[in-house]
Amino acid sequence: MFDLTIPIEQLYLVGPARAKLLKNLGIKTLEDLLFYFPRAHNDLSKFTLIADLKLGDNANVKAKILEVKSFRTKIRRFTLTQALIEDDTASILCVWFNQPFLTRVLKKNEYFIFSGKVTISKNRLQLQNPVYEQERDEQIHTSRLVPLYSLTANLTQKQLRYIIKTYLDKVTIPEYLPKDILQKEKLLNENYAVKTFHFPKDYSALNQAQNRLAFDEIFQTQVRVLQYKKTREQKNSFKINVDVDLADKIKSLSFELTAGQKQALAEIINDFKKPFPANRLLEGDVGSGKTIIAALAAYLMAQNGLQTAILSPTEVLANQHYFNFLKLFARDNFDIALLTSSQAHFNGNPATRATVISQITSGKAKIILGTHALLEKEIKFAQLGLVIIDEQHRFGVQQRSILKQISNAHLLTMSATPIPRTLALTLYGDLDLSQLKELPAGRQKILTKIVAEENRTKAYEFIAKQIESGRQIFVICPLIDDSDKLGVKSATAEFKKLANEIFPQFEVGLLHGKLKTAEKEKTMQQFSAKGGSASGGKDSYIDILVSTSVIEVGVDVPNASVMMIEGAQRFGLAQLHQFRGRVGRSDHKSYCFLFSDDPNSINNPRLQALVESNNGFDLAEKDLQIRGAGDLYGTKQSGYDFKIASLNNLDLVERSRNYAEKLLDQDINLNNYPLLKQKMDSQPLVHLE
Ligand code: ADP
Ligand code: MG
Repeated sequence: MFDLTIPIEQLYLVGPARAKLLKNLGIKTLEDLLFYFPRAHNDLSKFTLIADLKLGDNANVKAKILEVKSFRTKIRRFTLTQALIEDDTASILCVWFNQPFLTRVLKKNEYFIFSGKVTISKNRLQLQNPVYEQERDEQIHTSRLVPLYSLTANLTQKQLRYIIKTYLDKVTIPEYLPKDILQKEKLLNENYAVKTFHFPKDYSALNQAQNRLAFDEIFQTQVRVLQYKKTREQKNSFKINVDVDLADKIKSLSFELTAGQKQALAEIINDFKKPFPANRLLEGDVGSGKTIIAALAAYLMAQNGLQTAILSPTEVLANQHYFNFLKLFARDNFDIALLTSSQAHFNGNPATRATVISQITSGKAKIILGTHALLEKEIKFAQLGLVIIDEQHRFGVQQRSILKQISNAHLLTMSATPIPRTLALTLYGDLDLSQLKELPAGRQKILTKIVAEENRTKAYEFIAKQIESGRQIFVICPLIDDSDKLGVKSATAEFKKLANEIFPQFEVGLLHGKLKTAEKEKTMQQFSAKGGSASGGKDSYIDILVSTSVIEVGVDVPNASVMMIEGAQRFGLAQLHQFRGRVGRSDHKSYCFLFSDDPNSINNPRLQALVESNNGFDLAEKDLQIRGAGDLYGTKQSGYDFKIASLNNLDLVERSRNYAEKLLDQDINLNNYPLLKQKMDSQPLVHLE
């Protein structure tokens, strides 16, 4: 009996040189080898009689070898091997180049199967470079559905096929699925399914094998995420008193919460009543009002004497949250800090990094805003009750995994990327989900237009009118500085042009990633100041902000009404939707103008999609069609790798989840299912916590 975990270099057919090649394909163990499934099958199941062969056919014939010879050609000096073969109907010549050893392999008077292309030479049909295989009980390279694998240099289909087949014949894969599931789902056993996937007897067998293995992928993912979830539910977290008066705080806001916001808040409060750490994803389109929910959750924590850390993907956003929270909690007596890699603030005043860190470690700072700089080891929170991650998709898997260290805090992640239900149950299957499905009342549809270059002046005139009526404008450029790329707009050049030539009468500001933090901060404050009550003299505010993608996520200046994007075809759909979400954040009618340095952009499917829809969910579906799930949701990088299953089968996902749920309820550590446990341990999940 073979141990499936045995390293491939120890297999006698493999050895060190081949092991290297196989490792290029991700095959490290015997198990990997057996589970290295074909990317397709070549249907060579039907034989053709030699008399029926036609030029261009990909044919499969069974024939006796009449004669074999090799010789060097006079002109181009390569070795040509020829075999004359014959079946009951006719004979034909097979030719191979530079394979002189064939004279030893192909034996006169023996039966072989040849698969290859029918070509013509000197007016006679021939088989060129056919795959050959001696006739035996079970063919593996010819005369069947022949597996085709993804290869690497110096490894041939025939070699890999032979290695896989040899070990498939030697090994019996033990069944890990409980009998009742096998029966209810009418599944093949795994051993048979794996073997059949490689070497099926027909398409229907192949199909059944794939079904079984697709079930495995989905079921195992469910066991993994649910085990994760249930383990979390056995941990202890902070006890939160949720009876503190939130109602007054909510009443003091300048708006009423939407129904969705109220429900999300209720769900979060409900989490806090439970003894274990929450892990909730708050998902809502750009502008749906996630920040206030985060703020109210942090407020609850502070009232309980506990700390909240709020992580943002950019300094600009961390900053904005900080000043928002200062305003929101101006009359509450708890301390608020800001810490990024280049900024440290405490209760509205600049402070040293050391001071802020000591306020965090002593537990005095109750709400701490920042970037991933908050995850550094030296920062030890005294009593961290809640971690909030804004725009969670912008954080790398590694950054998120650092959060393991604080595993007993409640976790709230926020995202504007809509997630189809099957993905919610798999990728995010261990999280609880709250969704904000509507935007706050009074929001008008943002009018989106692709603007042709000849209408640029008109657009500028329109912008001038908007500014005169009190509004503000964003201008986004693909680059920071001018580069060699002809015609691509840079923020720096565009800023100069707008400030000096086009709009000398208005205040224009510049924002990009290379500016010093203090400059960025000042510019953002001046841009936010205009709409607010704090506007002082003319110099203290900005009408037009020229920026790179640094303002992509989260920035909230409700007075802005025009988002103008240069070189729009250079950005991705999700990104464009995020940019556009910077306007339309109040009851002012808002506009998004798409400019492009490519004259064909009117036909660009992404720009078209953006013009047609304001809805993040629709756009995500479009994006899914254009780019595929791996890119869009980072499935691969999270350790989920669906080779066979498609994530469209909601019914299968739900059924698998039920089985996994039942199984884990009886046996969370899988002690009675050692084979399943082994599978879980060999592929750990990289996840949020
Ligand atoms: P996002 O979900 O994109 O993070 P924000 O939380 O930044 O959205 O909210 C967008 C804007 O809407 C902010 O100016 C915020 O103050 C405002 N807002 C949030 N909730 C409401 C509401 N219920 N009614 C009106 N305005 C709201
Ligand atoms: Mg936000």
